[in-house]
Amino acid sequence: MPGKQSEEEQVEVGAQQDLGGLTEEELRQGQKAALALEDMMALSAQTLVHAEVDELYKDVRPLGQGRFGRVLLVTHRQKGTPMALKQLPKTSTSLRGFLYEFCVGLSLGAHSSIVTTYGIGIESANSYSFLTEPVLHGDLITFIQPKVGLAEPAVQRCAAQLASALEHIHSHGLVYRDLKPENVLVCDPSCQHVKLTDFGHTRPRGTLLRLAGPPIPYTAPELCAPPPLPEGLPIQPALDAWALGVLLFCLLTGYFPWDQPLEEADPFYGDFLVWQASGEPQDRPQPWFGLTPVADAMLWGLLDPHPRKRQPVSSVRGYLGQSWRQQEGTGEEGDRE
Ligand code: ADP
Ligand code: MG
Repeated sequence: MPGKQSEEEQVEVGAQQDLGGLTEEELRQGQKAALALEDMMALSAQTLVHAEVDELYKDVRPLGQGRFGRVLLVTHRQKGTPMALKQLPKTSTSLRGFLYEFCVGLSLGAHSSIVTTYGIGIESANSYSFLTEPVLHGDLITFIQPKVGLAEPAVQRCAAQLASALEHIHSHGLVYRDLKPENVLVCDPSCQHVKLTDFGHTRPRGTLLRLAGPPIPYTAPELCAPPPLPEGLPIQPALDAWALGVLLFCLLTGYFPWDQPLEEADPFYGDFLVWQASGEPQDRPQPWFGLTPVADAMLWGLLDPHPRKRQPVSSVRGYLGQSWRQQEGTGEEGDRE
């Protein structure tokens, strides 16, 4: 299952004159989050440690490499404490970009399904770094078996934990914007406990964004349409609900439901829209064959093409404990709808 970086680009924080479809309360939440982040960034800039990483920490092994940063398992040279160090080269990351990611992590505080960011930011000659708790069983991409997915109990546990992590982020007036298996770290070999990481794309609700490159499966359709304001679309938590729907589909089937949510360009997405409109069993697209009506209802809610009608991430909770995947040979296939 390939993981791709999302392709949206931030234009500016705004929507002051025109609310761009946001309610005043939603706009207020986003502005409050933006101001709190600016304060924390100013303070963190003053307390950066100026040193080369290897003066302070011993490099143990690489933990991962993303598009922007490499992540290393390190230990503190005096105390021996193991930590994950995310290093962002100055050639591709500005001080502001680094402080943003670091401070979003700090501002989220402690949550059992979010990687804890420690309050240590480092400026070296060629890079910026910050430290987080290490999570040592890799990321979710290595657990998804192509064309199969993940065992259902693990899918349900991931669903509950990721919904809770995203709800926490939304309650801080922020939109996560980068949900995909590579950003979900696994804490144990049977994938019972996961943690969300990588806040490089997280922005306050209402930030104006437009799509800079081609959409990916996790991109919500409203980002693919021409934005309502010339400056871009004011972002909402509904973007994360869409991405959660796509991720849960991947975990349940081992396939993406489509490559892009574009009706004309992607027949898989076109077929899904036809099925959503008709609700007829004979219109069920092939990739959806293995799912139960309970899973259908949950995913239809998260994958509503209209962001205002889309169910929030918390809706997942109402479907936990019921069967999401058809059991082979039970004859459930016939009475799906
Ligand atoms: P990028 O912003 O470049 O995508 P990430 O923060 O997603 O960088 O990190 C890249 C990869 O490093 C992740 O996909 C994951 O495999 C690994 N990784 C990141 N943080 C940790 C951590 N705290 N513990 C263990 N592995 C991590
Ligand atoms: Mg990442």
